[in-house]
Amino acid sequence: MPDIIQLLPDNIANQIAAGEVIQRPASAVKELLENAVDAGATEIKLIVNDAGKALIQVIDNGKGMSETDARMSFERHATSKIKNIDDLFHIKTMGFRGEALASIAAVAQVELKSKKAEDITGTYIEIDNSVVKKQEPVAMQQGTSIAMKNLFFNVPARRNFLKSNPSELRHIIDEFIRVAMSFPDIFFSLTSNGQQVFHLESGSLKQRLVQILGNNYNAKLVSVQEQSDYMNIYGFVGKPETTKKTRGDQYFFVNNRFIKSAYLNHAVMGAFDEMIAKDSFPMYTLFIDLDPSQIDINVHPTKQEIKFEDEKIIYAFVKSAVKHALAQFSITPTLDFELDSSIQHLDAVSKPFTEERKSSVASSSLYNTFSKKNQAHFIENKSELKHWKDLYEPAAGEQGVLPATFSNADTALTPVNRDPGFVSLQAFITQPVLTIDHLIQLHKTYIIVQNDTGFLVIHQQNAHERILYERFIKAVAGKPIAIQQNLFPITIDLTAMDMVILSELLPELHFLGYHLEPFGNNTFLIQGTPADVEQGNEKIAIEKMLEQFKHFSADLKYSKREKLFRSLAWQQAIKAGTMLSQKEMKIVAEDLFACDVSNITPNGKPTYTAFKKNELDKMFGR
Ligand code: ADP
Ligand code: MG
Repeated sequence: MPDIIQLLPDNIANQIAAGEVIQRPASAVKELLENAVDAGATEIKLIVNDAGKALIQVIDNGKGMSETDARMSFERHATSKIKNIDDLFHIKTMGFRGEALASIAAVAQVELKSKKAEDITGTYIEIDNSVVKKQEPVAMQQGTSIAMKNLFFNVPARRNFLKSNPSELRHIIDEFIRVAMSFPDIFFSLTSNGQQVFHLESGSLKQRLVQILGNNYNAKLVSVQEQSDYMNIYGFVGKPETTKKTRGDQYFFVNNRFIKSAYLNHAVMGAFDEMIAKDSFPMYTLFIDLDPSQIDINVHPTKQEIKFEDEKIIYAFVKSAVKHALAQFSITPTLDFELDSSIQHLDAVSKPFTEERKSSVASSSLYNTFSKKNQAHFIENKSELKHWKDLYEPAAGEQGVLPATFSNADTALTPVNRDPGFVSLQAFITQPVLTIDHLIQLHKTYIIVQNDTGFLVIHQQNAHERILYERFIKAVAGKPIAIQQNLFPITIDLTAMDMVILSELLPELHFLGYHLEPFGNNTFLIQGTPADVEQGNEKIAIEKMLEQFKHFSADLKYSKREKLFRSLAWQQAIKAGTMLSQKEMKIVAEDLFACDVSNITPNGKPTYTAFKKNELDKMFGR
């Protein structure tokens, strides 16, 4: 029997190692950007084609490499950044393992150009599958350019594993943003398929954040800054009113390295405490600097977890630093942030409680039900708020709580839905006398529809959400949606990330009545919107839709389409607290009856509750 163990050829060994370092185009982007930063560049340009699948190129004006170094840089474990094991504990550079270029050269076709300031010519090297194809002198400026083409051309299994271009581009933008945030004094640009996505002049951290996260943060950032012997923290948190439904804009950097830490996130959330609603996420970009010996840096290159020597100290430090910052800028909530949006729309909340109104309200009978302290402006503690809010929950709650003004009845009048003698909506509306002509709106939230056998209480927001959802499904199946063309097209500016998401959704949005056109740098033209989007609200509608879409994006069980339908339905539904005309109520009622599934919203909340007349009769001894 011959011996069977062999050493793997270099290119195969590198390919295997590459699997760890380069998982997708974005991982290569991260490595190349970090190399440029480590080289001391003040200008770094990233160019990608086909979301990095065809080309990823990073051009920097850093210190460059000598001819020998240029050749050496592609060897595995070749690095200029550490010399011995001790150095590992004082790492100041982003890279140190000497694996990135070797890995990249193993899974792509690479062209490197590099020149040091003191050299007359630079070096050009072409490598394919870890094999040097060409090397020659080249005339160039100081710095380095590395282009990698056709990522995974020699590992088809991995190439096929890559996601769609928009999705890979999102990963690339994520990595780009993280590096660009860490080094605001470096110029960065990102060009994708010839279109400039980012152009970030060097400047302050604040300027950089606003450039990346959007102008709406401009006056809304609170500076965080604390120093101690053990560690420093600096950065910004968004004011409470800038919270979002998605975790998106939250960044932690430790010694300029982006990390993910549920633990530190908890510390920040703790500092915001009562200032923001549950389920809402404040923006933060925080940099923690501490002695490298206090962290375990020797983690996997692509992992973003980090181990601290003493995480409790860091937790406490982060929490109190953010708390301090928020207090200093006296960010006290102007409204109770527990209030949800449907309540915000109610008059009591949206209109200032003036003396004049106070007296007129006091004389009305309603005032007895809603005492002064139950007005939102006087809400002192949450238990009362909860109670107040309960009055506005859909009537089909646990025991079908009715609005307080009906309180005499709610002991005996049970919603029919909960009853074995359940009357289906279909049965209800096929009753001959459906009075849809004179409808009543209660609490600007409930629509009462009467027929011979009883009445229905429709929750206008839930009902409309269902109606829109089904309309969208039908629209994509070919039933067109009424559109209003904008006489003067409106432009909408987006962050690069939202730009990518919106581009991805364009075809579906078109079916749904949103006619958008790319219009240069991070801008779309809104040519038309569905007829029921109020004029002047086109921009907000799209921004909210994106926000909600990202919120649903965390939920993997839905398809892109489903997420979009749900987002739009949720976003466009008329809110509780909106006064409706007879005509509008009629449309809601009729459209709800015409739905395939009429009794619940896409998310399963009831849209209506039915009450039987004979039950009412019984209550009155008839
Ligand atoms: P590491 O960054 O961990 O050292 P890499 O494989 O990323 O390993 O790079 C290997 C070496 O190549 C680096 O240590 C550095 O000396 C050199 N190098 C890579 N990219 C650049 C660049 N853009 N400019 C100058 N030198 C570079
Ligand atoms: Mg590196």
